[in-house]
Amino acid sequence: MVVYNFSAGPAVLPTEVIKRIKEDLPSFDNSGMSVMEISHRSNLFDEVIDQAQQDLKELLQVPDDYHVLFFQGGCTLQFTAAPLNLATEHKKIALLDSGHWADRARDEASRLGIEVDVIDSTKNLHYTQLPALKDLPQDTYDYLHITTNNTIEGTAYNRLPKTGNTPLVADLSSNFLAQDYDFSKFDLMMVGAQKNVGIAGLTIVVVKDDLIGKAKNLPSMIDYELFAKKNSMFNTPPVFAIYVAGLVLKWVKEQGGVKEMDRRNRKKSDLLYDFLDDSKLFTAPVMKQDRSLTNVPFVTGKPELDQELIQQASEVGLLNIKGHRSVGGMRASLYNAMPYIGVEKLVDFLNKFEKDYWGKH
Ligand SMILES: *Cc1c(COP(=O)(O)O)cnc(C)c1O
Repeated sequence: MVVYNFSAGPAVLPTEVIKRIKEDLPSFDNSGMSVMEISHRSNLFDEVIDQAQQDLKELLQVPDDYHVLFFQGGCTLQFTAAPLNLATEHKKIALLDSGHWADRARDEASRLGIEVDVIDSTKNLHYTQLPALKDLPQDTYDYLHITTNNTIEGTAYNRLPKTGNTPLVADLSSNFLAQDYDFSKFDLMMVGAQKNVGIAGLTIVVVKDDLIGKAKNLPSMIDYELFAKKNSMFNTPPVFAIYVAGLVLKWVKEQGGVKEMDRRNRKKSDLLYDFLDDSKLFTAPVMKQDRSLTNVPFVTGKPELDQELIQQASEVGLLNIKGHRSVGGMRASLYNAMPYIGVEKLVDFLNKFEKDYWGKH
């Protein structure tokens, strides 16, 4: 059975990438060894990591004063690393509370004794819309933290907040390379690879050079300056995860880059949102202007019916549409590697489910 995997992460990879991994696996680049077995100090791997960094910069179209760094520890560790590296002057950061992951970032920074000002929160609206940034006081914060796409709640910034001279730090884990932005507006981007750029174990940080080296004597494994100097190979990097990310980046380039991904993702999510908005059974709770292209939550309003739907969907190969435990209902993640036909199949299924339901009620 053909399956479509709507998981929020780890998530679907392009079939071409899986095929390529399979081909490469026994003997990487005719070396007689798999990529899992080669030294990270070899020329073979140097090419992999350099190419991945170069392709990423090309896709983001950021100027030369950005570094691409590869870390372990997930995006979650960057909630600690970013404040330690950046919050050196005011020891105070601003944050827009747009949901679960923003709150996790707030919590980790607070644990370090750094003051976190929540500028705005939409918690009382169950995060069905985004918090707003009105005038941010200048020379007060080391940076503003935002979550460009809220994986659990299904919201995304379509326009970036204006921060004046305060650096903008963004968690782009779930819409990186899937939604187009002027990436040079970000001073730091943090991304867990397992949503749109590959597999778990790799975290990508793209950071402007002028933010590197502000803090001294940090733990080595989160020190941006050290990782920049060592080309992300202070110790053994996640070799296989970097190799997979490299293949995904190449794939995105071949598809036409971030603008093309954005166009396709809009087409996919429009198909689903239009169906949900017309439906008398389903609702998509997020305000239209703040809707995510990559994570689409929806509900029937009846938990047992949601349960039944999730079960029936999995029986026909529409997998992992269960919503996050904190919000319930359903969620379809439509990352770059989810083909349009997968969304068509999902909408056909939902349509049929709804017709059956009204037939019985
Ligand atoms: C998944 C996710 C994270 C957490 O990433 P880990 O790599 O599991 O630490 C953080 N932020 C967002 C927006 C996410 O979607």
